[in-house]
Amino acid sequence: MSAGDFTRERLNGYLSSRGCASFDLRGVFFDMDGVLFDSMPWHARTWVEVMTAHGLHFTAEDAYMNEGRTGAGTIDLIMQRECGRHACEADVREIYDEKTAAFRDLPEAPVMPGALRLVQAVADAGLSASVVTGSAQSSLMDRIDHCFNSLFRRDFMVTAFDVKTGKPDPEPYLMALHKSGLRPEQAFVVENAPLGVKAGAGAGIFVIAVNTGPLPDEVLWQAGAGLVYPSVEALADDWVRLLGLARGADA
Ligand code: MG
Repeated sequence: MSAGDFTRERLNGYLSSRGCASFDLRGVFFDMDGVLFDSMPWHARTWVEVMTAHGLHFTAEDAYMNEGRTGAGTIDLIMQRECGRHACEADVREIYDEKTAAFRDLPEAPVMPGALRLVQAVADAGLSASVVTGSAQSSLMDRIDHCFNSLFRRDFMVTAFDVKTGKPDPEPYLMALHKSGLRPEQAFVVENAPLGVKAGAGAGIFVIAVNTGPLPDEVLWQAGAGLVYPSVEALADDWVRLLGLARGADA
């Protein structure tokens, strides 16, 4: 099967499963860590350091598998696994404060190669671009505006402050649909993490996964990815072809 046939089959499969005749693309929701910024190595390193300092066994793979979860959610999960009990509020505060401080001490993560080109191509196609992240950094939008030439819609942005549960729950992507006034078949999600893919797919949106970390593609397919690209650059290279197929796709 050719690459074009495979992509078409995946797009059409999504439309059939939703009972939709066609895509009516209006916007693309971008995850931030591991998609727009190459920040995951920093997050993984600081999680491992701080958990280890607290006597909790935690690997870089744990960090990537739990990417997208809130800090409190990750700490509680590891406490249950390693200590057989839930994390109390003090555990969460102490560990998360240390993790945040360690992350802040590192240099700012670079923009992901290909990300600016992809976001520009999305805007050039007449689609809105917005950010959906579990992060709670208050200066986030200023840095995103600065690095991405103000191409993202501020009013459509979803952060940790907008949601109760967070990924892998569909809540952040349902909130993104609500804020931007779109139906699922009017958007794409771009995600790098299994839990983020699950959240986007759970909201009924076609998820394009970019595998920018060390996990096998299989975990992204299993989480519900519509397509998996080996990098953001590869997706940027393929964007015009993909958009053409989506605009021509029907169930
Ligand atoms: Mg991510």
